[in-house]
Amino acid sequence: MHGAAVTIAEEVRAGHRQALARAITLVESTRSDHRARAIEILELLMGDAGNSTRLGISGAPGVGKSTFIDVLGGLLIDRGHRVGVLTVDPSSAISGGSILGDKTRMEQLARRREAFIRPSPAGRTLGGVARRTREAMLLCEAAGFDIIIVETVGVGQSETMVADMTDAFLLLLQPGGGDELQGIKRGIVELADVVAVNKADGELEAGARRTAADYGRALGLLRPRSQAWSVPVETCSALTGKGVPQVWAQVERYVTALRANGEFIGRRTEQAKAWLWSETAQELQSALQNDPRVRGELPALERAVAAGSLPPTSAAQRLLDIFLDRRRNE
Ligand code: GDP
Repeated sequence: MHGAAVTIAEEVRAGHRQALARAITLVESTRSDHRARAIEILELLMGDAGNSTRLGISGAPGVGKSTFIDVLGGLLIDRGHRVGVLTVDPSSAISGGSILGDKTRMEQLARRREAFIRPSPAGRTLGGVARRTREAMLLCEAAGFDIIIVETVGVGQSETMVADMTDAFLLLLQPGGGDELQGIKRGIVELADVVAVNKADGELEAGARRTAADYGRALGLLRPRSQAWSVPVETCSALTGKGVPQVWAQVERYVTALRANGEFIGRRTEQAKAWLWSETAQELQSALQNDPRVRGELPALERAVAAGSLPPTSAAQRLLDIFLDRRRNE
C-alpha cells in the first residue's frame, strides 16, 4: 500500500474536504498511476462507505433541478445531515460540451460547510462517467456525507445509469406540456420512485396541480416496480420552498418502506453485482483493445467486416482467439 494513499484515506475518513476533492480527482484521472492510487484509497475506505441515502434526481433542462437541490440540501443540513451533490452530465460524454456544468448552480448550498458539490466528471463514455460517479459517491460516504444526491439531465441512458446507482429516484417536472415538450420519455417516468411537479407558485400553481393529476393518472396505469410502493406525485416550488419538505418526506417514506421489506438491501446487492460485471467488461475491453497482436490484426478484420466479406461475429471470435491465445502463452 502506498503511503500517500493511506494518508489521503485517513484524511477523507476524518472528513477533510480537500482530501476528499483530491481523492475524487484521482478517481477521475485516466493516468494509470493515479488510477492505481485511487483503487488503493477506495479499498481502504470501503468499510466506511455505504451509510447514506442515495437519491437520484432528474428532469429536463430548466425544470428547476439546481434550484430544488439548493433548497432541499439546505433543509437537510438544517436537520443535521451532511449532503453530497454529484452531477452526471451525459453531454460531456456525448458531445464534449456541457448542459449542467457551465452556470453557477446551487449558490446557497455551495457556501455551506456541510455540503460538498462536485460537477460532472468528463469522460468519453457514459460507462466511464458512471464508474467515476459511483466511486466519488463511495468517497463522499466515507467522508461522512449521509445523503448523496446524484443529479442528471437526460437523454434516457443517463437516467437509467443514475437510477442504477441510487436507492431512490426523483423525477422533477414543470407545469404544462406533454411528455415530448418536457423531454421526458416514458421509460424515464417508469424509473421514478417519486414524482414532483416544480414551479407550483403564482400563476403556475393551478397548471402544476393539473400536470400532477395527469401524471398521477398515467402512473396509475403503469405496473408498480415494488409491491410496497405506489409512486406519489407531489407539487412544490423550489422558488418559495413550499412543498419541498413534503417531497423529501415521500423519499423518506419510500426508503423506509423498502428497508422494511428487504428490497432496499436487495437493490444495493444487485447494483453491486452489476457494477462488478460492468467493471469486468470495461477492463476486458480495454485490455483487448490494447493488446498488440489484436491491434495488429484489427485493420484487416475491420476492412473485411466493412466490405461485408466477413461476418462481425467471426471477426469478434478471431480477435478473442488471438487475445486469449496470447494470454495462455504468456
Ligand atoms: P435546471 O436546469 O433544471 O437546473 O433548472 P434551474 O434550477 O436552473 O431553474 C431554471 C429556471 O427556473 C430558473 O430561472 C429558476 O429561477 C426557475 N425556477 C426554478 N424553480 C422554480 C420554481 O419553483 N418556481 C418558479 N416560478 N421558477 C423556478
